[in-house]
Parts: sequence; C-alpha cells; structure tokens
Amino acid sequence: MQDSVWLEHYPAEVQPSYDYPKQHLARFMIDSAEKYPDQIAIHFLGKKLTYKQLLDSTYRMANSLLTLGVQKGDRVAIMLPNCPQAVISYYGALLTGAVVVQTNPLYTERELKHQLTDSGSEYLITLDILSKRVNNVLPETDVKHTIFTSIKDYLPFPKNVLYPLTLRKDGLSTRVDYSTTAHSFKRCLMEADTKPVLVEVDAERDLALLQYTGGTTGLSKGVMLTHYNLIANTLQTKEWSYQSTEGEERYLAALPFFHVFGMTVLMNLAMRQAGMLLLLPRFEAETTLKLIDKMKPTIFPGAPTMYIALLHHPNIRQYDLSSINICISGAAPLPGEVQEQFESITGGKLTEGYGLTEASPVTHANNIWGKRKIGSIGIPFPNTEAKIINPSTEEELEIGEVGELLVKGPQIMSGYWNAPAETARVLKDGWLYTGDMAQVDEEGYFYIMDRKKDIIIAGGFNIYPREVEEVLFEHPAVMDAVVAGIPDEYRGETVKAFLILKQGVQVDIEEVDQFCRERLAAYKVPRSFEIRDSLPKTLIGKTLRRKVVEEELNKQKKA
Ligand code: AMP
Repeated sequence: MQDSVWLEHYPAEVQPSYDYPKQHLARFMIDSAEKYPDQIAIHFLGKKLTYKQLLDSTYRMANSLLTLGVQKGDRVAIMLPNCPQAVISYYGALLTGAVVVQTNPLYTERELKHQLTDSGSEYLITLDILSKRVNNVLPETDVKHTIFTSIKDYLPFPKNVLYPLTLRKDGLSTRVDYSTTAHSFKRCLMEADTKPVLVEVDAERDLALLQYTGGTTGLSKGVMLTHYNLIANTLQTKEWSYQSTEGEERYLAALPFFHVFGMTVLMNLAMRQAGMLLLLPRFEAETTLKLIDKMKPTIFPGAPTMYIALLHHPNIRQYDLSSINICISGAAPLPGEVQEQFESITGGKLTEGYGLTEASPVTHANNIWGKRKIGSIGIPFPNTEAKIINPSTEEELEIGEVGELLVKGPQIMSGYWNAPAETARVLKDGWLYTGDMAQVDEEGYFYIMDRKKDIIIAGGFNIYPREVEEVLFEHPAVMDAVVAGIPDEYRGETVKAFLILKQGVQVDIEEVDQFCRERLAAYKVPRSFEIRDSLPKTLIGKTLRRKVVEEELNKQKKA
C-alpha cells in the first residue's frame, strides 16, 4: 500500500483521513458561506465579492437555470475565462444537479462543435465577444439556451455588487443574431430569486463534470468525474499542502478554471477553505507580478511556463513576492533551476506534482515541507496507489525499471463519456493506465520518463499531434504529415510539422499556416513547418514521430 510511503514522509498531524464526505460538491461553498459570510470569496480587478454575495448569486443562477428547464444530469457547458461569472455559473449549474462541461474559450468552431455535440450540452454560458464563433456552431448542436455575459462585466462592479456582471442596459447586445434562445447573465441573476437550491446527488455515482481531454483518435473525449472524485482530490490536495486554517489563504487563480487542475486546486480548494480567489482572466507576467505585490496571495498553483515567464520578466525584483508560500507545479516537467530561482525570489516553496484529467487530476506530488527531489513528481497522494508495469506483459516492475504508470484512488474517473471501449482500455480493476512511462526509486518517489501518448505540452497546453496532423491532412497539397514536439527553452516544447507534398504540387507555407489557424486553437498551430521528401516509417507504415524529433535535434546540434 503506497500510503506507507506517505506515512513515512509526512508528520502525524497531516495523516490521511480517508474519510471524504459523500456529499454534493457545492457543499464546500455553501458551508464556507454559512461559516464565513463576510469573508471575501472573489477578488477581481480590484472589486470584491463576499461568500454571502457569491452564494446568493449562485442560488440565483441555479434558480434561473431551473426556470430554463435544466434537470438533473443535463449538461451545461461553460465557456468562460476566470471571472466571477465562471465561479457563479459552475456552482449554479452544480446546484441544479447538472453536469458541467468546461469549454476552453480559445476553441475553434470545429473543436467547440465536437465538444458540444459529443457531450449533448443543451445549455451554454459564455461571453458575448465569443458569440460569432458560438453562433456559427450552435445550429449543429443540441444547445437550446445560451446565456451571454459581457466583457464589460470585467469593469469594476457597480454599487450593487450582487449584480456586478453586466453593465449593458438591456443585458443583450443588439449586434448579435442569436440562433438559440439567448439570455443575459445579468437578467438571469436579477429575475431569479435567492431561495436555496440543492438537488440531491449520489456523490459516488452522479457526475459533476465532463472534462474533455485528447485521445488517440484525435478528437477529445469526455472524462466523467463524479462529485466524490472531485471532493476527494480537493481534500487530498489540502492534506498534501498541510492547509488546516480556514478563511486565511489567498489563492492566485492564474490557471484557468476550465482546466481540471485549476478547478480542483484553485476553485474547489479555495471554496473548501473559505479562501480568497484572486482571479486573473488571462495569465500575463507583468499583471501577475503586480497582483502578487498588491494582493499578497499565499498559494499559487501553476504550470512551469508560468513560473518561467515570471522569472524572465526584467523587473521581477521590483515586486514584493514574499507572500507566496505554496506553489504546486503540474502539467509538464518542472526544471530544477526554475524551482530554485523561484524559491529564492519568493521565499516560498515551489514543488512538482503530477496528474491527468482522468484523475481529477492530481495523483502525485513532492512533500512540500519535507523531502523533495528535483526531477521527480514525488510520492502518491494520500489514499492513492501507484505502480509501474511492463506494458507488454502487465507484470509489475522493480525499483528503477521503466514502465507504464498505473494509479488507483478515490479521484479516478468512472470512465469516458459514451466510449466504453476506450474506458475498458484504460481502466482495469480500478487501476488507471496513465499512458505515461515512469520509474520509482527506493524511497517511493516517482519519475516521469516519457509520454507514451506522445502528447506535446507547449506552454502548459496539451497538444495532441494526431489532431494537428488530421488538419494538415485535410489540406489539398499535403500527402503526408507528422507533427512533433521539439524541445523549447521557454515553452517546454514547441509544435513542428513535417510535410510531404503531393507530387508536382507547390505550396506557400504561410497558406498552410493560415489553413491551420482557421481550424485549430492558436496554441495548437505548428510554430514551424518543414517540407520533406520522405518521413521515417515503421514496417507497417506508421510514422516514427520520435525518430523525426531525433533527426531534428541532430540537425539543431550541427547548426
Ligand atoms: P491532462 O490530462 O491534460 O491534464 O494531461 C495529463 C498529462 O500531462 C499526463 O498524462 C502527463 O503526460 C503530463 N504531465 C502532467 N504532469 C506532469 C509532470 N509533472 N511531468 C511530466 N509530465 C506531466
């Protein structure tokens, strides 16, 4: 049992509880609002919302959704950056028993359409500035009601902070030709009442979230996470970080809530701890440094690129970053020197963890106040088992041997939405096959060696080569294409596409680039293209992506 490792490394006061409440996920926020009504829950561009105000707005949103017809189990898509509306919509939808489908506001029409149709979302809450993209897609989806909120809502709240979210008079833009029934966020809040809503759920069976993540087929799959999965991972994170005091921590919300990492370690944890969420709608180094200096956050979870961007800022020393106490870095490997430099500037701890959407997401982390190993993802979270197997024989491997990492625990998904075959492939006997190659040392610390799945992680964003390749294959001039992650000092990896053109065809690279931009979110578009005569292949004709990367590295070395 892996907890023997935890027990060895953690002091008695942070021993695992194993007793995660089987309750509604929104209970975290309701309980905090009842205990600390006047505590600040949200700080956004200088304005504040107390727990009482947040809860009232959330009840209004829930009542409003019920009026629109939302029923338990219905999917409600939320396509918003970090802003008060994102928190209100998330908990408001959960209170109705609906399943939240978090949607990246950067998605192109193609990606958005897939996610909305695959999830069967009938409701969508989004920003009016995204309406063009949204409206182009809606007729091809099941979405019946769309709730729009305005970018103007980002301006300082008017006097009545209960309705801080739309400043426009009629609440709706006249420019937008809505193809479904459109509603304004502000009106939803104003016209609904604050009577408590809490549709009962079976925490271990009922889904709170359908969180989309890439797959081998190129298009993303919906990871089914229950209320209990998310409660467990939130409390595991709390135990990992030794957080016991309530109402005191300030969480720097730079990670987007539409990613499960931001949702669990920021939104859910802050709500559980009655902490203050300092919302950043978009990560940008200077704004972040100013916010830290002014608002003194204590907890700052992030992806390595965020810490790197701050360290690269020429004026970092002008800002007081000493409030930062705890940072967990995930999503990609954290370079040792980044950890050291960031710690020396802030005086806090920056520690590497690991997880994946299918695990709500965190399964491993280094002990923040105890033993940490550079280059290691740390030990399994409390109540989490992990082992390394030989992917061919499924036999458990010895210390130091590299194989596939398997994890088991209360945070593991119940499966992929409408994809039983895919689920059966990765979930066996409660063990999740992570697709990551790893090894463990004699003290129980794990190391990720490689990604079996070939995901490219550029700037903390996951890019699935197959998806990009599929777009390239759609281009009329392209005969063959392979997309690979090339090591990049700043972004971790960068996307490069290698193309073989159809015989006798010439193409302008800028045109291919534009072709990709129209079909993929910007972060997925290859940063460079190379036209080749051939690509390395296996005997059965599969392109050897890793070989292409090796060739590229050799070329770079020689240059
Ligand atoms: P996602 O499901 O989008 O959260 O992506 C999960 C994947 O990110 C994992 O399967 C890993 O390949 C990768 N990942 C997460 N954390 C780390 C880490 N600390 N080091 C290396 N890879 C990581």
